[in-house]
Amino acid sequence: MASIALKSFIGLRQTTSENKSIVLSKPTTQTHRNFRINASKSSPRVTGRNLRVAVVGGGPAGGAAAETLAKGGVETFLFERKLDNCKPCGGAIPLCMVGEFDLPLDIIDRRVTKMKMISPSNVAVDIGRTLKPHEYIGMVRREVLDAYLRDRATTAGATVINGLFLKMDLPKSTGSPYVLHYSDYNTKTGGAGEKKTVEVDAVIGADGANSRVAKNINAGEYEYAIAFQERIKISDDKMKYYEDLAEMYVGDDVSPDFYGWVFPKCDHVAVGTGTVTHKGDIKKLQIATRLRARDKIEGGTIIRVEAHPIPEHPRPRRVLDRVALVGDAAGYVTKCSGEGIYFAAKSGRMCAEAIVEGSENGKRMVDESDLRKYLEKWDKTYWPTYKVLDVLQKVFYRSNPAREAFVEMCADEYVQKMTFDSYLYKKVVPGNPLDDLKLAVNTIGSLVRANALRKEMEKLSV
Ligand SMILES: Cc1cc2nc3c(=O)[nH]c(=O)nc-3n(C[C@H](O)[C@H](O)[C@H](O)COP(=O)(O)OP(=O)(O)OC[C@H]3O[C@@H](n4cnc5c(N)ncnc54)[C@H](O)[C@@H]3O)c2cc1C
Repeated sequence: MASIALKSFIGLRQTTSENKSIVLSKPTTQTHRNFRINASKSSPRVTGRNLRVAVVGGGPAGGAAAETLAKGGVETFLFERKLDNCKPCGGAIPLCMVGEFDLPLDIIDRRVTKMKMISPSNVAVDIGRTLKPHEYIGMVRREVLDAYLRDRATTAGATVINGLFLKMDLPKSTGSPYVLHYSDYNTKTGGAGEKKTVEVDAVIGADGANSRVAKNINAGEYEYAIAFQERIKISDDKMKYYEDLAEMYVGDDVSPDFYGWVFPKCDHVAVGTGTVTHKGDIKKLQIATRLRARDKIEGGTIIRVEAHPIPEHPRPRRVLDRVALVGDAAGYVTKCSGEGIYFAAKSGRMCAEAIVEGSENGKRMVDESDLRKYLEKWDKTYWPTYKVLDVLQKVFYRSNPAREAFVEMCADEYVQKMTFDSYLYKKVVPGNPLDDLKLAVNTIGSLVRANALRKEMEKLSV
């Protein structure tokens, strides 16, 4: 997160047999959200019902997608295998998400206004100094956020099915339905659930990093990081320190290619780290992260241990026919910061909007060209952000001297302002040319010093 601001001067500124077959149908009585329809379509009208779309996965991507579809007149089925799921996650969200997704403040545990960036030698820089009084980073518990978004989808008219998606049969001819096979946990048949199928016209795969929908359409693999997190309950006294403060630790000890974090929640802190290159060492890296924060979390009790993959880049295929992937299933987490909640919700909504528009509020069949509109819009809006963070990770997370240089740069108020503006609002902030130049010179200075330091350290270790 801390480095989005630097984009401006890097030159990337751009704009079974016992299966029961059922056909679910539910007349929608909701007020439809009216989307602007730009061109009349030649695709066939659906008759006697509205377009049916299955959203697999009830995280932020799935919840946002299902709400938008239902509001847009589409008959929507949202599948979630675990309705009380606690997705392993730091739960940091940008301010713009609160506004754009109309999130009530009572689902946000903490409003962080002080973010400490801590170097390998434990030099701490407070990078929240330029925040305006109303600005903050939201800290949520995922079990709370995800349930809220799913409930809102239900209110909009979506049918939430507590079920595990197993596989789907692809259409045998143009316009014929997808048949989704799932274990239904709504029924009282014990732990394994009841095997059922449902027919739909289109599918949104929002089932996270281990997406079965992605496998069903041979979407290809992506490189991934493994992230580990412990929720630690600390005393009220110690919690005061983290009231509105979060920490990010960088260094070879906590991660060779990512960062460690302490993020505050309602009555505990989430302490974690991640890595792509040293997955086998993840527990060692976690211990090191805990050690770095030891004074502040001393006496705490670990109340939950969690780990999950984080995608490193989009999958080779994100749309096929009438199936689209969104969120982690598509691979929309930014490098460097590991941020994915906002991008998941946003991609879910964007994909659903494309379906609503393409189907003229659920009245017509959609095809691949409708779903591709979502991809085009997504790539145009966010490709530069992903690219810049990719470059920054390579430059600043490669060695301890480079990380020291990175933290040194974070002390600059201009860097902080650009960083927070970019993070909080997800917009490329136009820089001040003179300040951009000064920043470029300072960055080069920091990197030269980091390089010299690295060479000296290499000599010492010979
Ligand atoms: C340790 C860690 C810390 C992180 N910290 C942050 C952070 O602070 N800020 C941030 O922005 N991002 C963070 N991320 C990334 C973020 O968690 C993801 O990008 C985000 O959760 C993606 O949302 P999603 O809806 O695409 O997928 P998920 O949140 O993974 O949701 C997928 C949903 O699908 C359900 N599901 C999966 N398979 C099936 C199936 N077969 N049938 C039915 N349901 C299914 C799952 O139960 C789950 O509810 C972190 C990730 C990790 C691992």
